[in-house]
Amino acid sequence: MIDCIFCKIIQKQKPADFIFEDEHITVFKDIHPKAPIHLLIIPKTHIKSLAEVSEKEAHLIAHMLLVMPSLAIRQGLKGFRTIINTGKDGGQVIDHLHFHLLGGDHLSSM
Ligand code: 5GP
Ligand code: ZN
Repeated sequence: MIDCIFCKIIQKQKPADFIFEDEHITVFKDIHPKAPIHLLIIPKTHIKSLAEVSEKEAHLIAHMLLVMPSLAIRQGLKGFRTIINTGKDGGQVIDHLHFHLLGGDHLSSM
C-alpha cells in the first residue's frame, strides 16, 4: 500500500480544489501556487515519475498534455508554462507523476 498524498486526493480522502476530472486524470489547484494560476494534472494510476513511464503509457501522457490548452483557456489564460519535475535532483517532491500548468502573469523566458 503506497502512502501517497496525490492518490488520497484522487480518492477524495484528502480535500483539493478540483478543476477537472475524467476516467484517466484529475486536475486540481496547487496548494502553494507559484503563479496566479497553478494547476496540477495527475494520472489516476500511481506512476512515480516521468522516469517510470513506458510506451504503454504513451496515450495517457499525450492526454495529460493535450488537455492543457483547454484547461488554460477555461482559466482565462492566453499562454501558460508546463513543468515536469523528475526525481529528487529534478526538484520532484511528490512521488506521483504530475504536470504543472502555470500562468496568469507574463512569465519570463527561460
Ligand atoms: P513537485 O515539486 O513534486 O514537482 O511539485 C509538487 C507540488 O505539489 C508542489 O507545487 C506543492 O505545492 C504541491 N502540493 C503538495 N502537497 C499538496 C497538497 O496536499 N495539495 C495540493 N493541492 N498541492 C500540493
Ligand atoms: Zn499516488
